[in-house]
Amino acid sequence: MPVSGQGPYDDQNIFARILRGEIPSRRVYEDEWAVAFHDIAPQAPVHVLVIPRGRYVALTDFVATAPDAEIAGFFRAVGHVARELGLEQPGYRVLSNMGVHAGQEVPHLHVHLFGGAALGPMLVKA
Ligand code: AMP
Repeated sequence: MPVSGQGPYDDQNIFARILRGEIPSRRVYEDEWAVAFHDIAPQAPVHVLVIPRGRYVALTDFVATAPDAEIAGFFRAVGHVARELGLEQPGYRVLSNMGVHAGQEVPHLHVHLFGGAALGPMLVKA
């Protein structure tokens, strides 16, 4: 269900197509709730995307409408992937873009995991 400020979910978005196996991806993890794969244009030595299997545009509609078990399952998967990739020490960054001001390109909720090197400032100052 869309939330104010977001359009309806587009079943043809690229991550929906990755979930259906129509487009290849380099998967690193999958479970009942989530799929994780390498970003096609990595911005850090490790740059992995974690997406829910469900049809959510972004964090806003996910937390507003997803069942509790799905929310828990998704965020547990994020933590699991970070651990499995060996990112916990010496650390990593989690980021999720929502909407135009954040520059969200793909309208299916995704969490970026960045790691493998010191990542620098959180945001480039305007
Ligand atoms: P965002 O700007 O937060 O929406 O991020 C979208 C991300 O998806 C970008 O980092 C892209 O490099 C990545 N991306 C786009 N197409 C693909 C693809 N086919 N496989 C993996 N990553 C992709």
